Amino acid sequence: MNCKEAQELITALVDDELSASELASIESHLRECVKCQFAHRQERALKTAVRTAGSAVSSPGDLREKILSGLGRPGKGKALNEPQGPGWLSQLAFRPALAFALLLLLLLPVVYLMRSEPAPIALSALKSHERMVAGSLSYTREENPEKLKIQLARSVDGRFGPMGYDLSMMGLRPVGGAVQEVAGRKIIVALYEGTAPSLTCYTFLGTERDVPKGAALFADPEKKINFYTFSHQGVNGVMHREGELICILVSEMPLPELLAVARSKAQPS
Ligand SMILES: [Zn+2]
Repeated sequence: MNCKEAQELITALVDDELSASELASIESHLRECVKCQFAHRQERALKTAVRTAGSAVSSPGDLREKILSGLGRPGKGKALNEPQGPGWLSQLAFRPALAFALLLLLLLPVVYLMRSEPAPIALSALKSHERMVAGSLSYTREENPEKLKIQLARSVDGRFGPMGYDLSMMGLRPVGGAVQEVAGRKIIVALYEGTAPSLTCYTFLGTERDVPKGAALFADPEKKINFYTFSHQGVNGVMHREGELICILVSEMPLPELLAVARSKAQPS
């Protein structure tokens, strides 16, 4: 038996559908052929993976249904002329799109975990601050704090609102805001300008898992709030949590000053 013949039987081998003589000859080939051993392992892994995907209750219903109905449908057009291996699994080999969709389904939980990696929002806040101050990132101008608050909350369907801090004591007033989307999450940004270095306030639904790696912790003993500070290229950030809301203040003002602002405005949840 050569490799081509062996590979044609591998799917059937995995599906336990070989005759005794076929089984004997492929087993003897597998004993001495590393390449086919590898293909055999791959096929077994794929079968296990497909089973897992098929039984995963948490898989998105729509996609799962499409895939499962795709499996039941007879091959049409070109697929009819292709060799038909035994078992539905072998059909996968001739349906790259279907195989890809199944693979995607398996990867979904992994992708989801990666998307909830904390660093992106904090990092993007530091970067978007610079662009907002420079005017290269568009935002809605609205100097009335109440109107701005309503407008921003509306643009996230009222699920949450901006912190709406009054920073007039330090010569800063809100001038506008925007809603950004980072890693699939909506973030409300309010820009404050005035006589002190400009400040942006980022508000989003999150947890302390959104604290960037390497951030310094300042545990406020009075308010019992953890503040996390971090910097990137002269731009400073201070993050804290109020209930289910995360707030990041970003500014080029010195970090101790920015931390003092955050501490004075933060409300224990
Ligand atoms: Zn071989």
